[in-house]
Amino acid sequence: MRIVILGAGLAGITSAWECLRDGHQVTVLDRAEAPADFTSRANAGLIAPGHAFAWASPSVPRIMLRSLWRNDQAIRFRPSANPRQWRWLMQFLRQCTAQRARVNTLRKTRLCQYSQSRLHTVAEETDFHYDRNTGGLIYFYRSDRSFEAAAIKSEILSSAGVKIEILNRQQVVERDPGLADAQNAIAGALFVPTDESGDARTFTNTLAERCRERGAEVRMQTEITGFSKKGGHVTAVNTNRGPVSGDLFVVALGVFSPMLSRQLGFSLPIYPVKGYSVTLPAADPELLPRFGGVDEDNLLAYCPMGNRLRVTATAEIGSYSTRHQPRDFRVMLQKTQDLMPRAAQYSKPDYWAGLRPMTPTGLPIIGRTHRSNVWLNTGHGHMGWTMSCGSARILADLIAGQNPQIPLDGMDPATMRIM
Ligand SMILES: Cc1cc2nc3c(=O)[nH]c(=O)nc-3n(C[C@H](O)[C@H](O)[C@H](O)COP(=O)(O)OP(=O)(O)OC[C@H]3O[C@@H](n4cnc5c(N)ncnc54)[C@H](O)[C@@H]3O)c2cc1C
Repeated sequence: MRIVILGAGLAGITSAWECLRDGHQVTVLDRAEAPADFTSRANAGLIAPGHAFAWASPSVPRIMLRSLWRNDQAIRFRPSANPRQWRWLMQFLRQCTAQRARVNTLRKTRLCQYSQSRLHTVAEETDFHYDRNTGGLIYFYRSDRSFEAAAIKSEILSSAGVKIEILNRQQVVERDPGLADAQNAIAGALFVPTDESGDARTFTNTLAERCRERGAEVRMQTEITGFSKKGGHVTAVNTNRGPVSGDLFVVALGVFSPMLSRQLGFSLPIYPVKGYSVTLPAADPELLPRFGGVDEDNLLAYCPMGNRLRVTATAEIGSYSTRHQPRDFRVMLQKTQDLMPRAAQYSKPDYWAGLRPMTPTGLPIIGRTHRSNVWLNTGHGHMGWTMSCGSARILADLIAGQNPQIPLDGMDPATMRIM
C-alpha cells in the first residue's frame, strides 16, 4: 500500500519505520528543514514508564488557578481568546478526578511499558547511537511530606508491574554520585531501574535515514496545506510542492494535527502545553549525573546526554507560541546549578521551548477516522518519546488488520467524540 505520513517528528518517523517493516511504500512529509525539528527536538530525553502518572489529577485545578497570579507554579494556565483552549480545558478538568486519574495512569503505564519494549526492538534492528543511557531514572523529593506521599502514590505503578525502589537520602547519592552536592536538598527518591533515556532528536533523525535506506521518501520543507477528496476518501495531500497521492494517510502532526483534521470534518482534543528546555555542555563528563531524573517538587527534569546536560521544566497551557527569552530559564537554571554546581558549563546555555501535543487524558489517539483512509497517530503529550515506538507498532498492526499487542482503551478515535 502507498502510505503517506504527515509529520516527521517522533510519531511520524516511528510510524514510517513500522509501515516499512510491514512492506508498505512510505512517503513522509514535513515543512521543517529536518526531521524532529519541532516538539521532538529537545525534550527531556526520559523513557519513563516509571513516571506515567496522568497530569489530569485532583490537585491540578488548584495549581492552575494559583498560576493565574503566581509565576512559580509547575503547571501554568495562561487564558487565551482561542475557543479551542477553553473546550480542551473543560475536557481536561473532567479528567481531574481520582478515579479518572487512576484509569488514565494505568492505561498510560501499559502503553509506556509496551513502547519501551518496542524501542528496544527498533534499537536492536537499527543499531545506532542516540546517547542512550540505561540503568534507571531517579525521581527525587525535597520534603519528607512529598516523599511519603509519592511512595504511597507509586503503588499504582507497582500494581502495573513497574519495579520501584524507595531510596533514602544517602542511598540516592550512593546510587548517583552526580547528586552528591544535592544531598541536603533531597529527602528521598523513587528509583525505577528499568527506565532509561536518550536523545530523541538524534534517534528520530537517524531512524529517518534508515527509513530512506529502506526506500522511504522523507520530503522535508514541504508544507501541507490541505487534502483532495473524492467521496469519503482522501486521494492526495496538497502541499506547497504539489499534490502527493497515496492509498492511506497518517496524521502525525503533533500540536498542528487539529488544524488539518478540521478540513476533514473532525476536531481533535489536542492542545499545546509549552515546556522550556536548556542544554548545557558538561563541565566534566565525570561530574554529570549518572542517571536522568526529575526533581519532583519543582517538576524539573534533567538528563545526561553524552557530553551534555539537558534540563526541562514548566507546563504552560497558553498559546501556540514557542517564543522564549533568557529570563524564562533563570529559575530552572538556578535550581539546576544549586543541585549540580559542578556538572555543567552554566554560562553556555542552549535555550529551546516546545509544545507538547496534549490530550485531556494524556493518552495519544491512534487508529482510523471516519474518513476511512485517514488514520491518526498523534496527541502523545508529555510522553511522546516514551510512547513513540509502541504507538507506531499499534498503528501498523491496525493498518494490517491485526489486533495490537495491548488494548486500545482510551486511544481509539472511533470511541472518542472527535467526529
Ligand atoms: C519540554 C519538553 C520535554 C519533554 N520531555 C519528554 C520526555 O522526557 N520523555 C517523553 O517521553 N516525552 C517528552 N516530551 C514529549 C515529546 O517530546 C512529544 O510528545 C513528541 O515530541 C511529540 O512528537 P510528534 O511527532 O507528535 O510531534 P512533533 O515532533 O511536533 O512533529 C510534528 C511534525 O509535524 C510538522 N508539521 C506540522 N504542521 C505541518 C504542516 N502544515 N505541513 C508540514 N509539516 C507540518 C512539524 O514540522 C513537526 O515536525 C517533552 C516535550 C517537551 C516540550
